[in-house]
Amino acid sequence: MCLTLPGQIINLKKNAAFIKNNETVQKINISLLPNLQINDWILRINNLAIKQISQKDAQEIIELLEGQKKINLSQINARFRKIIKASNVRCLTKKEIIYLLNIEGPEKEALFSEANIARKTNLKDFICIHGIIEFSNFCQNDCLYCGLRKQNRKLKRYRMSVDETVKTAVKAVKEKGYKLLVLQSGEDSFYTDETLCEIIKKIKEKCKVFILMSVGERGYECYKKMKQAGALGVLSRFETSNPKLFKKLHPTGKNFKNRFKHLKFMKELGYFIATGSLIGLPGQTIEDLADDILMMKKWANMISVGPFIPTAETPLALAPNNAKIKNWKVEMNLKMIAVLRLLMKEVRIPVVTALETSAGEDGRKKALRAGANSLMFNLTPAKYRPFYKIYGNKFYQKENIWEKYGLFKYEESYKMLEQKMTKELEKKNIYA
Ligand code: SAM
Repeated sequence: MCLTLPGQIINLKKNAAFIKNNETVQKINISLLPNLQINDWILRINNLAIKQISQKDAQEIIELLEGQKKINLSQINARFRKIIKASNVRCLTKKEIIYLLNIEGPEKEALFSEANIARKTNLKDFICIHGIIEFSNFCQNDCLYCGLRKQNRKLKRYRMSVDETVKTAVKAVKEKGYKLLVLQSGEDSFYTDETLCEIIKKIKEKCKVFILMSVGERGYECYKKMKQAGALGVLSRFETSNPKLFKKLHPTGKNFKNRFKHLKFMKELGYFIATGSLIGLPGQTIEDLADDILMMKKWANMISVGPFIPTAETPLALAPNNAKIKNWKVEMNLKMIAVLRLLMKEVRIPVVTALETSAGEDGRKKALRAGANSLMFNLTPAKYRPFYKIYGNKFYQKENIWEKYGLFKYEESYKMLEQKMTKELEKKNIYA
C-alpha cells in the first residue's frame, strides 16, 4: 500500500478540482468524490482523487512526508556541487562516495535535501508500505552479530505452522491492504523446500501479493522451486563487501563467495533482489561502506541497509555502542541512503527497523527526508514478536495514520507496484 501527500482544493469546476502542488496548480478528476467543497483535503493517485480526509489528518501526513526546504547549493563548496552534478549523469567514483560519507554540517543537510529532491522528482509523493512476517527464529548459523545464532541457547525459539503463516499473510493483504510481503526466518531446514513452496502457493491462491523470501542460503534448487511456486523476490543481504571482514563475522558456516553465488543465481532466476549491508561493524571502515554502496548499485532492485546493533548473548554483545557511536551509525545510515538515492533514482529504499530502533521516534521521518521511499511494518503475530530478537529493544511505532490512509483498497496501487517492479527488473540485467 502507498501513502501520498494530500492536496487542498482551491477551486472546483464540474468534475475537476484544482489543488496547489508546490507552486503549481494541478487539475484533479473528482468523479469518485462528487460532493467535495473548496478547502476540502483529498488523497489522490496521479490525477484521480480517491479519498477525502480531515484537515487534521492531512496536516499529520504532510508533516510526515513533506521534505525539508530545498537548500541553496550556491552556499555549499564547489567540490560538493560538482559531485552532485556528476551524480545526475554517471555513477560516482569510490573517492567521491567517500567524500560524501565524510561530510558534516551544512553540506550534510544539502546532501539530504538533494536526495529528497531526487526522490520527489522520480517517485513523486508516494511512500510505499510493505510488511514483514518473521515465521521462525530457529537458525543453523552462528553469525557473530546476530541474536538468532544457533549458539544463543537463551533465546526462546518458535516456528509458525504453514497455516498460521498463510493466515497471517492473507489477513495482511485482505484486511489491511498490503501488496508486498517479506517472509523471513533464520536459516531453518525444518522447513523443507516443499513446505516453503506450499506456503507461497497457498498465499498466492488466496490473494494478490508480491512475496519476497528471506530464508538464507538454501541453494539453487530451493530458489528455483520457490520462484516457480510464485515468489517474486528475495531479501538477502551481503552484510559487508569486505571479504576479510565477512570471514571474521562468519568464522563458521557462511562464506563470502557462496553469498554472492546465491545473489548471482537469484538474479539469473529473475528474482527482484533486495540486498545491502550492516553499518558500524567492528573493524569496518568508511572505504568498506563506500564499497557496500557500489555493491548495492550493482545488485539491488531494493536496498536494505541498517546499523549494526550489538546484541546480548552474541560474541559482539560488548561492541562499543555509546550515544556518540549510535548517533554516528544513524547519521552514516542517513548519508548512505542519500548517496544511494542519488545513484539509483528510482530504487526502492525502505527505512529498516534497526534504523528506527537506533534513531528513535524521528528515525522514520529523517530517513524519508534523506531519500528513503518505503517502510516495512512488522506483521509477525504479537505473541512471537518478542522472540525474533536479531537485536534487543526492537522498535514498533504506532502505524495508525499509515494503515488508515494507505491507498490499499485500490487495484491501482497493485498495478502501480507491478509496473515499478517490472521496470526496475528490466533495468538490472548485469550479472556479476
Ligand atoms: N536468514 C535470513 C538471512 O540470512 O538472510 C534472514 C534472517 S537474518 C536474521 C536478517 C538480517 O538481520 C541479516 O541479514 C542481518 O543483516 C540482520 N542482523 C542480524 N543481526 C543484526 C544486528 N545485531 N544488528 C542489526 N542487524 C542485524
